[in-house]
Amino acid sequence: MDHKAELPPHVLIFPFPAQGHVNAMLKLAELLCLGGLHVTFLITPGIHRRLLLHANVQSRFETYTGFRFESLPEELPGGNPHSADRLMQLYYALNIAAKPFLRRFLVSSRLGDDSRRRPVTCIIADGILSLALEIAQDVGTPIIFFRTISACAFWSYFCIPELIKAGELPLNGDDMDALVANVRGMEGFLRRRDLPSFCRIADLGGHDFQMVLNETQQTPRAQGLILNTFEDLEAPILSQIRTACPKLYTIGPLHSHLKARLREKRKLQSTSSNSLLQEDRSCLRWLDEQPPKSVIYVSFGSIAIMTPDQRMEFWHGLVNSGKRFLWVIRPDSVPGKDGEQHGSTELEKGTKERGYMVGWAPQEEVLAHPAIGGFLTHSGWNSTLESIVEGVPMICWPYFADQQINSRFVGEVWKLGEDMKDTCDRVTVEKMVNELMDVKKDHFTKSADEMANLAAKSLSEGGSSYSNLDRLIQDITLMVV
Ligand code: UDP
Repeated sequence: MDHKAELPPHVLIFPFPAQGHVNAMLKLAELLCLGGLHVTFLITPGIHRRLLLHANVQSRFETYTGFRFESLPEELPGGNPHSADRLMQLYYALNIAAKPFLRRFLVSSRLGDDSRRRPVTCIIADGILSLALEIAQDVGTPIIFFRTISACAFWSYFCIPELIKAGELPLNGDDMDALVANVRGMEGFLRRRDLPSFCRIADLGGHDFQMVLNETQQTPRAQGLILNTFEDLEAPILSQIRTACPKLYTIGPLHSHLKARLREKRKLQSTSSNSLLQEDRSCLRWLDEQPPKSVIYVSFGSIAIMTPDQRMEFWHGLVNSGKRFLWVIRPDSVPGKDGEQHGSTELEKGTKERGYMVGWAPQEEVLAHPAIGGFLTHSGWNSTLESIVEGVPMICWPYFADQQINSRFVGEVWKLGEDMKDTCDRVTVEKMVNELMDVKKDHFTKSADEMANLAAKSLSEGGSSYSNLDRLIQDITLMVV
């Protein structure tokens, strides 16, 4: 008898190589391993090196015998993307480099080249890498997409053809507060300024816009769609998505789901951070010395950049608010005119009294710290979920892509904070920080606590995300031929 018949299903996970995507998809990989599956995680050599260096993945993943990293053969231009432009550059390079590799990998897997694993049972590819769809279909391997954005952002991308048909895109006129009528389920509160940033263009033929449009339209061709969200957070939009993608698995918030399943298996793990940068843990000691819920955490993720002026406005606003703050300023987040980077030393000198700055923080742990009372965020989807899980209200300053719509939902739909999109002045920053941390604190804390409870419920046995992950694992198991 073929000994491979005894082996578990084998999933190839293929994320887009950037922090937010790798973070979520590596959590999924770990959850699938805990569920007894074999997983190959396909990544660029640079990201693999960074994970080994900063995220302790070697010792963490060696406990999963069915897990392995597979590196694409070459480094890609764009490297570790830390601006929107570089992200797009990386996307185009990946499309060229990954295709032949993926095809070869799947074919040799089918030929049974690896005696310890079955041939790949199923691919879980990042939903912006539809290059994998073409190859999966050629080779005859089932494929499921994973979109690392919110359901509301996914649905707005998906409705772009309807916006174009109705003449709502390209945006005409300069009233960015005008309501958008053709994203079903969002009539009445979605403004032009809340549409994904890719929509802020005059020419719909542009490469980046076309890429977002095309990638999203491919989604229903896959066997299923995984979203890092939970039913109670986005139910009305999820029912819209189900009209186009009926096989939908909502299994988030993944970082917290992983912690819950590790606890269930009594598997002790000091951290499940998938950080690509060195975390400065000194901020946790600083937080230990601050009173409960007194600190606003400020971080704009791994890609957002700002001008020196914008940084000064944030700094003045924070200092003038009189509140304590912990601010992550990535060394590359304020590029200078000639490419040199503006350090934060000057600001740090003026901050000692109530503020603390680091280049990169252990964010999940920071948000879980009792001293944190608010989060000034760029509304990246991982950051938003991490805040929701900990019941931390937000001030949103979206930078690009899905962040514009996430921040609208945070402010207007979920009532978890305030949206300061498209403004950046010290007076607004000071006012919003005071409202979040003081004047409207009870109001926001109450809604944030309620949403955190719903998130926890979805992850407990029988909860929606818990059951959907089990269903995903069952469906993958049924794909074994
Ligand atoms: N993050 C972190 N330390 C920081 C800032 C961010 O570990 O100082 C992590 C954060 O926890 C989140 C990810 O980086 O998981 C950022 O992802 P998100 O989707 O929020 O934004 P992106 O970086 O993709 O814009």
